[in-house]
Amino acid sequence: MVRRKSEAKRVPGMEIQTIGIVGAGQMGNGIAHVCALAGYDVVLNDISEEMLENAQALITRNLDRQVSREKITEAEKTAALGRISTTLTLSELGPSDLIIEAATERETVKQAIFEDLLPHLTPQTILTSNTSSISITRLASRTDRPEKFMGFHFMNPVPVMQLVELIRGIATDEETFQACKSVVDRLGKTAATAEDFPAFIVNRILMPMINEAVYTLYEGVGSVQSIDQSMKLGANHPMGPLELADFIGLDTCLAIMNVLHDGLADTKYRPCPLLTKYVEAGWLGRKTERGFYDYRGEVPVPTR
Ligand code: NAD
Repeated sequence: MVRRKSEAKRVPGMEIQTIGIVGAGQMGNGIAHVCALAGYDVVLNDISEEMLENAQALITRNLDRQVSREKITEAEKTAALGRISTTLTLSELGPSDLIIEAATERETVKQAIFEDLLPHLTPQTILTSNTSSISITRLASRTDRPEKFMGFHFMNPVPVMQLVELIRGIATDEETFQACKSVVDRLGKTAATAEDFPAFIVNRILMPMINEAVYTLYEGVGSVQSIDQSMKLGANHPMGPLELADFIGLDTCLAIMNVLHDGLADTKYRPCPLLTKYVEAGWLGRKTERGFYDYRGEVPVPTR
């Protein structure tokens, strides 16, 4: 059952209360978690019943961990879980004040989602995408409200990471930007603004490093273990680049490199053929239990 908000229309400056989230994968479930904990009513949608069930179980586990670490109380956990409803029917997100699309990193998938949503939205609904790299201006231009469209880019894992990149499309208006900024503030996170160019700021810098780490592996300069250890101990990175790639998802990493390569037309962004091969094998990292490491046993084992 989806909780419906009152018929009251959102007036400029009025607070956002209901957030619709499309995609219940790694990012969608984390976004639902932090939004519900901050007091928003959340409607979470996916095309897969299994992903919705997994997301609910994961959110419960992650909230439990926060209770056991005394970051939140049992009552706050129960209230947050009570604010999240799930649905397989995209149109049920229509009455939301804000929609955050966090589905698979493929432009055709995202375009189809917005197209299907449009007839069900209120005139005030703000549309956003959690895309890591796709043009906000182009996604916005295919909707009826480019001025109410923005990039709302969370980092993984959402409950832990402090930053949210806010990306204005060329047509995004100030009211929309301020409304999204106020959500970031209420989540207790920090907003960084980025211009709408391929992969924005964080991934423009991070992904070429990860891709270079895969080239380093591909060319035999180092093993998975030596590359990760070198960057952890030699550059003081909390995770090695290959470990991080597995954490992000190798399909997402490849999709971002392709957007950089196509969008900036510079060969320095050429995705490493080994990254492509892992994705072709369906070894997408942690989410499929195999990537640069094999996660099926007690401890991760390098696959090369
Ligand atoms: P994921 O593969 O874990 O989840 C994607 C989810 O989208 C899946 O549950 C899938 O069933 C669902 N989906 C696919 N098509 C759909 C549709 N038409 N309607 C509803 N749901 C649909 O991916 P993820 O890592 O959560 O990434 C989601 C988005 O967040 C991508 O745009 C990605 O670039 C972005 N992002 C990812 C990270 C990261 O570290 N993984 C970080 C920031 C942003």
